[in-house]
Amino acid sequence: MANLSQYDVAVIGGGAAGIFTAINLARLQPNWKVVVIEKTGKLLSKVKVSGGGRCNVTHACFDKKLFPSYYPRGASLVKKTVHHFFTTDTIQWFNERGVELKTEDDGRMFPITDTSQTIIDVLLREATRYQVAFKLQTAVESIKKNNHLFLIQSDKGELIQSTYCCVASGGMLNERALQWLAPMGHSLISPSPSLFTFNAPNHDLVKLMGISVPAVRVKIQGTKLVENGPVLITHWGLSGPAILRLSAWGARWLQEKKYQFTIHLNWLEGQGWNSTNLAAHFDSQRLLQPAKQLLTSSLFQLSKRLWAYFLSAAEIDEACRFGNLTAKQKNKLIKLLTDQEIVVSGKTTFKEEFVTAGGVDCSQVELGSMESKIVPGLFFAGEVLDVDGITGGFNFQHAWSSGYLAAKSMADKPLH
Ligand SMILES: Cc1cc2nc3c(=O)[nH]c(=O)nc-3n(C[C@H](O)[C@H](O)[C@H](O)COP(=O)(O)OP(=O)(O)OC[C@H]3O[C@@H](n4cnc5c(N)ncnc54)[C@H](O)[C@@H]3O)c2cc1C
Repeated sequence: MANLSQYDVAVIGGGAAGIFTAINLARLQPNWKVVVIEKTGKLLSKVKVSGGGRCNVTHACFDKKLFPSYYPRGASLVKKTVHHFFTTDTIQWFNERGVELKTEDDGRMFPITDTSQTIIDVLLREATRYQVAFKLQTAVESIKKNNHLFLIQSDKGELIQSTYCCVASGGMLNERALQWLAPMGHSLISPSPSLFTFNAPNHDLVKLMGISVPAVRVKIQGTKLVENGPVLITHWGLSGPAILRLSAWGARWLQEKKYQFTIHLNWLEGQGWNSTNLAAHFDSQRLLQPAKQLLTSSLFQLSKRLWAYFLSAAEIDEACRFGNLTAKQKNKLIKLLTDQEIVVSGKTTFKEEFVTAGGVDCSQVELGSMESKIVPGLFFAGEVLDVDGITGGFNFQHAWSSGYLAAKSMADKPLH
């Protein structure tokens, strides 16, 4: 047959999950011929741009029971994969190969060099060491299984035959992107973007862009979705960890709503204020310090600009003193501080880290091995599965964990 090449294992996709699968498999089975098929001319291109060019490799969470709770979709799969390859294994794997990781205050882990090239270099060095073959600029167009062998056809008309096949082709941007896999009988969950910021470009608050408040409670109206954490005001709306986490947990619902929804913010959540104790506080200030100006009293650890904005939004004059504060002004200020309502209109993709929810339905995959329940010998790893984590290194950890498990499961099988 013209243009036929034969391998023991073909890995489709040269991203984090595909390369990690190939390296670990070739290490466990040094005599097997392993090839990575990549449609673009570059390997690990997302690793390169990840974490703002620093690559947030994993998250400093060392509790296997807690870890899956960071995945809005696919937690049951993650629960199994981290049993085989956890964050501690990631740290050790890179460490044994000369790459030290450091932990930032928020738990994100990066190479100490602060450049993603360090991660790319070590992965490509290991691939060379274990003689992983690569076919670049080769897009898989179809895949069939005949007589225990996979026959993979590329856009160049090339045929690649393999005993086992691992699909690690990444997130689906649209339903058509994975159509070549459909004849294998796998159901695909339709894609929804995750990890985005909320747009409210016409809201007065955006004039305060750049201000960040460390502990805000944000709730999406009409849902049970609530997050506490830092919120950053941007020139188009709101960002920061609390917003990104909400975008991940609400990815499907927010897509259904076409990103038109309302949020409620308690800007003082971190300091324990609510409408009741805040009302009592203003009443006591009125009695104890009636001559004190609201604008200059350093209340609530908010920045001066943000405090001035709240006073103005509550129609409180800059010269207003506690003694002159009317009940209407007080109530409006309390509402703004503890339950500000903002109408969101649209989303902006978070540039630092972006994933797609959706992909291969996890219920059709053996969670303990990553092997298809429908086609024996077919494996999956990484974002192609309907698995996604919140921001902070969880998406790469899923790539490492699922890739390692797929590699180990294939290595444990015989070659026939
Ligand atoms: C800008 C950005 C920054 C990010 N930063 C972080 C971060 O710091 N930490 C974190 O945990 N996560 C981060 N993520 C998410 C993370 O990058 C992904 O979850 C991860 O790369 C998924 O790895 P993967 O190998 O499954 O898929 P991918 O990295 O998408 O790799 C899949 C590969 O398959 C190839 N392919 C697709 N279809 C075919 C085909 N038909 N034939 C052949 N090849 C094919 C693609 O070209 C691609 O190279 C970031 C994402 C983005 C976009």
